[in-house]
Amino acid sequence: MIILGIDTSCDDTSVAILENRKILSNIVSSQIKFHSKYGGIVPEIASRKHIEWIWDVTERALNEAKVKLNDVDLISVCHGPGLIGSLLVGLCFAKALSYASHKPLIGVNHLEGHIQAIFLEEKFPEFPFLTLIVSGGHTSLYRVDDFGKYKELGRTRDDAAGEAYDKVAKMLGLGYPGGPVIDALAQNGDVEKFNLPRPYLQGTLDFSFSGLKTAVKVLLRNLGYEEEFPPEEIKRDISAAFQASVVDVLIEKVRWAGAMENLKRVVITGGVAANSELRKRAQMIEDLEVYLPSKSLCTDNAAMIAVAGYHRFLRGEKSDLYLNARAYLPL
Ligand code: ATP
Ligand code: FE
Repeated sequence: MIILGIDTSCDDTSVAILENRKILSNIVSSQIKFHSKYGGIVPEIASRKHIEWIWDVTERALNEAKVKLNDVDLISVCHGPGLIGSLLVGLCFAKALSYASHKPLIGVNHLEGHIQAIFLEEKFPEFPFLTLIVSGGHTSLYRVDDFGKYKELGRTRDDAAGEAYDKVAKMLGLGYPGGPVIDALAQNGDVEKFNLPRPYLQGTLDFSFSGLKTAVKVLLRNLGYEEEFPPEEIKRDISAAFQASVVDVLIEKVRWAGAMENLKRVVITGGVAANSELRKRAQMIEDLEVYLPSKSLCTDNAAMIAVAGYHRFLRGEKSDLYLNARAYLPL
């Protein structure tokens, strides 16, 4: 079965072609250079770029996969959560393709896509398993009992981990997105130099990262860098301290959740799961078999939407042309 997947939930225009679970192409066209000077995503620019690029990205995906639109058996599209204007572009495009080519349409939740990215890999877990989705907009733990059976165990009460990375990067003058830059700087930083709080929130599987972000702000002020950015060495040391704090909390909560739910396997996914320190520490967790999608499948991509749609379709599900985009869409 050939599946065409589309994700335009945020600032990447992405189209993928799968043959069942095998990736034939997975094009991700990043808009970062249009947004970075603003220090974050500008929704209006994002939707306009999606409109400009969506057809071209689809043609590239079909060409690279050596597949004609006529050979496609299913169109799988992300319809939420995300930026409403961005989602609408991908969704309307998918509906038009489906209507014109008489191909079935299926709507997929972006978070389900992040979870199912692991099924694009050769090695994937048996059910049930624990999932940590750690991305730009979410930091949540789920128990996954089957395809489509997700139970939320905890979530962030304020900032997502990725959002904290991006905001701390902005304070340090590192540009957007902050995750990859902080990840790189932290590798040469002294993790002992500064001590930042670890918001474990005893007795709950929820997270909170906004206090940690404030702690970085206070630290910068105390060091005298309120008006200007600190020198490279301090940027490196703060990056290392911040990253150690985030990773400690994420790993500890995964441990707690695994023990509380008596689960033996965990999938760690979403943009922050591309983080090198988190990947390293995850491999050392005892009592849990850890599954990490490859880095390019952790960040937003349409192959993860295609594989989630494929599994829904196999269960007999289908969407119609009334399918709507939803900025807020719980799993
Ligand atoms: P969501 O999936 O919650 O709707 P999103 O789709 O915008 O949000 P993703 O693309 O999954 O988010 O992830 C982007 C986030 O991942 C950004 O906040 C970015 O800084 C972070 N990120 C990417 N690479 C790394 C890295 N190596 N280390 C830490 N964070 C990273
Ligand atoms: Fe995402």
